[in-house]
Amino acid sequence: MQMASELSVETQPRRERSRPKPWQFGKVTHVIVETPETSTLRIEVPDAAQFVPGQYYNIRIPIPGRERPIQRAYSVGSSPVPDHSIIDVGIRETPGGLVSPVLVREISPGDLLEVRGPYGAFTWTEKEAGPLLLVGAGSGVVPLMSMIRYQVAVGSKYEMHLIFSSKNREFAIYADELDELAKTNDWLKVSHTFTRDDSDSSARYHRRIDSEMITEIFGETSPKLAYICGPPEVVEKAESVLLELGMQADSVRTEKYD
Ligand SMILES: Cc1cc2nc3c(=O)[nH]c(=O)nc-3n(C[C@H](O)[C@H](O)[C@H](O)COP(=O)(O)OP(=O)(O)OC[C@H]3O[C@@H](n4cnc5c(N)ncnc54)[C@H](O)[C@@H]3O)c2cc1C
Repeated sequence: MQMASELSVETQPRRERSRPKPWQFGKVTHVIVETPETSTLRIEVPDAAQFVPGQYYNIRIPIPGRERPIQRAYSVGSSPVPDHSIIDVGIRETPGGLVSPVLVREISPGDLLEVRGPYGAFTWTEKEAGPLLLVGAGSGVVPLMSMIRYQVAVGSKYEMHLIFSSKNREFAIYADELDELAKTNDWLKVSHTFTRDDSDSSARYHRRIDSEMITEIFGETSPKLAYICGPPEVVEKAESVLLELGMQADSVRTEKYD
């Protein structure tokens, strides 16, 4: 049996992160409908580089009327352990968007998609320790889920408290898996906040992420590191609250989905 330490991944050096990577065709093996607007595409990447929880891939597709394929960034939601060559990307359909509606509505198992990666410095491994405060809004939960699944896979037990904002339970990506993981791992706490529901008892809050909420969970967690991901306005708000609460700038890591 492999020990947890043999399974863990190394944070890539900056040089490695910025090296040009080739486009390659990955095969979609599964399409998992997560919510009415979000699907996970499970993609087998033939020549896959090791990725670190929190990183993303670029995906490009041909668009009628466009001379060149159009690319967008999608975070990996799966753990690189045990197999970094199978990536789950969680894609929310942006109404009127060029790429995400095609990926969410028109891709089937067996299709080939052009992918390139991994990229990004929004990363965590157990070597950085915890406790961690994770703040995700909408599909911003995807890279945070990779960190949580990774910690399950390697067996470390740093405290993680996720504040997760969704419209309501139906639109909360991974909601059942997260609640199950929180029941079976006492290092994980999940505080849902639903912005378009005021009665569902599976949510701790029923409003947008705000300073009071972050201050409350900050007090319960005493985080060493914070990871915030989602639309720029949510990320900037949460980051400024954590800095006001005394966290150092290099301990508050952000990924904005502009
Ligand atoms: C590092 C990173 C990681 C990401 N990870 C994820 C992820 O895991 N999951 C996820 O769902 N998303 C993720 N995103 C966001 C993703 O990359 C795309 O931005 C998103 O899917 C929208 O792309 P799109 O092509 O569908 O929309 P776009 O075509 O980019 O359009 C976006 C919006 O702009 C509007 N728009 C477009 N053109 C015009 C115009 N000419 N005039 C007015 N309005 C216009 C559209 O109607 C739409 O509402 C990530 C982004 C980054 C930067």
